[in-house]
Amino acid sequence: MFFQDVKQGPPDPMYHLKVAADQDTNINKVDLGVGVYRNEKGQYHELGVLKAYEITTGSPEFLQKASQVIFGKDSEFLNNGQIASVQTISGTGAIHIGALFLRNSVPNLNKSIYVGTPTWGNYVPMFNLLGLEVQTYNYYDKETGEVEFASLLAAVRTAPKGSTFVLQACCNNPTASELTEQQWRTLAEEMTSRGHLPFFDIAYQGLGRGLDEDAYGVRHFASLGSEMIVAQSFAKNLGLYGERVGALHVVASTKEAAAAVKDQLRCMIRWEFSSSPAYGSRLVDLILSDPESQAKWHVELREIRERLERNRQKLFHQLANVHKHEQTPGNWHIIKRGQGLFSLLPLTPTQCEALKRDYHIYVAPNGRMNISGLRESNINYVAQSIDTVVR
Ligand code: PMP
Repeated sequence: MFFQDVKQGPPDPMYHLKVAADQDTNINKVDLGVGVYRNEKGQYHELGVLKAYEITTGSPEFLQKASQVIFGKDSEFLNNGQIASVQTISGTGAIHIGALFLRNSVPNLNKSIYVGTPTWGNYVPMFNLLGLEVQTYNYYDKETGEVEFASLLAAVRTAPKGSTFVLQACCNNPTASELTEQQWRTLAEEMTSRGHLPFFDIAYQGLGRGLDEDAYGVRHFASLGSEMIVAQSFAKNLGLYGERVGALHVVASTKEAAAAVKDQLRCMIRWEFSSSPAYGSRLVDLILSDPESQAKWHVELREIRERLERNRQKLFHQLANVHKHEQTPGNWHIIKRGQGLFSLLPLTPTQCEALKRDYHIYVAPNGRMNISGLRESNINYVAQSIDTVVR
């Protein structure tokens, strides 16, 4: 267990002053503490429907709904108060605060953090920035387009007890390939028996198989009673890119431990960015509070998934048919595999450069293509251009 011995953070006089003032019901109360502008009625000054002040860790309604999206409405952890949730500056902010918390507040954790490659380019610099030591293993089999599960298991088996493993819960960036449900179960068993800590990153929930299906790994670890960290983003699945709305959830083994963890997270947020932006979280809260909006969200996500899947199939078929009898050379069947926004095409950096230079087609230098950028009007052009640069 990692979070059992987390101590409460040092007191923040302003925070405690505010809590005390809010709770004081005396008729003579005059709150001259917290530094927000109040109007003549003594109220926070509101602009339109927006309240102008948000508590440090984010609105409880938003956090409750956000955690239900990941853990499910009936989550035992959630109902037991074992999850410390805070609002963060989108998914990136959640990963940062999560890593900061591990480094600063979890004394018995091994400081190595394991990341499967190829992966999202931000993990290594973000963890290095905090002085955490990143260990890598090979996550992806280029030939089959599947997860190289044996390498992941080998890393789990050789890592020192109490190591952290960063796991993208769904729609892997950049490989698009993810664990099967059976593999999640095996991984959870191997990790929990070695006392490793899962650090889930879930930035594309709902873009893969479905909102619940994409949380399978998280929920399975939870069902085993595993402590964990989950970094959640609403950037992609609600199109809230600029609003920077996300959450960090730390699942502890008791309600008391979760309360201390939450207090640590409150301190870190206070020291790093003071308080969470209110606007985006309010939009999420509104949508998740209204059954009609929620149903609409589910429909829209399904349409997005279906379009991504159609684009995968179309690009594959175009590549197979550029020349009637001769397929474009390369291992293109991997395009049809996998979930989410991306596909890791078997293109060299030089070929990616040629696509850009000669055809104005932009894919990341590692061959990662955003599948949603393909359209009826450009898919044939993209296939033709790929065919030319790989020959
Ligand atoms: N994790 C992964 C794997 C991502 O691809 C991204 C976005 N590129 C993030 C986390 C963070 O997303 P954001 O900060 O925009 O919510």
